Amino acid sequence: MKITFLGTGVGKFKPGPGFRTDTTTLFDSLLVDAPATLAASMEAAGVRPDAVQQLVYTHSHGDHYDADTLRRLLAGGKLDHVAAHTGLAARIREQAGALADERGTQVVPLEPGAKTVLGPFSVLALEANHHSPGPGEVNLNYLIEGGGKRVLYLVDACVPPMSAVKALVQEAVPADALIIDATLALRDVHEHMFVHCSLQTASRVARALRAHGALRPEAPVYGTHFARTHLEFKPPVSEDLEPLGVRMAEEGGCVEV
Ligand SMILES: [Zn+2]
Ligand SMILES: [Zn+2]
Repeated sequence: MKITFLGTGVGKFKPGPGFRTDTTTLFDSLLVDAPATLAASMEAAGVRPDAVQQLVYTHSHGDHYDADTLRRLLAGGKLDHVAAHTGLAARIREQAGALADERGTQVVPLEPGAKTVLGPFSVLALEANHHSPGPGEVNLNYLIEGGGKRVLYLVDACVPPMSAVKALVQEAVPADALIIDATLALRDVHEHMFVHCSLQTASRVARALRAHGALRPEAPVYGTHFARTHLEFKPPVSEDLEPLGVRMAEEGGCVEV
């Protein structure tokens, strides 16, 4: 499975060294989250808009969901599925349902613990520990399975709740890679630490998931969703990252799992 880190930031980075757009990640043809900066991220990474055939949302915060961006993707006519938690799926139907119907795109409601087939992918929705974006909506993280590989996507969340860990352990097949929230970078103690990870917390979550058989021992761990303010506080260097066993996702970077 080819993973492209189209956007890896949050918090309005300024163009220049260290620049990052809002977090959005492409798994072969499946995109997780489509913020307003998506078109710029895709252009910078050399990815054509029609490369996206399945779209899955974690939640509707402004750095993940943008109705105009969704409508542009739908208008392209290449999307076969748009999936989100039941609460957000209802909002998607309100804001873009007619266009989705016209283009033959299925809007799929998801619930934590449920596994859903989206084109060539199977997606297990997991409850996430994040501040709620709106009434009736639950933040979701995902185990994405495609091309014989499984990638665990735990972004905009901190330590996964027990319900998510149980669902992963029940799978009985460890994930081949972990992409995890590292919003706080190396700033380990902060008021946001209850709804976001630092690189240190990400490292501990990865260790615990390995101990529970939910992540392969050799599986790579990528931190993403970095906040500008925390990176300015102390940009991580390789000496910081090596002992943690977490790599920083590079803006526009590709990895093969
Ligand atoms: Zn959020
Ligand atoms: Zn976010």
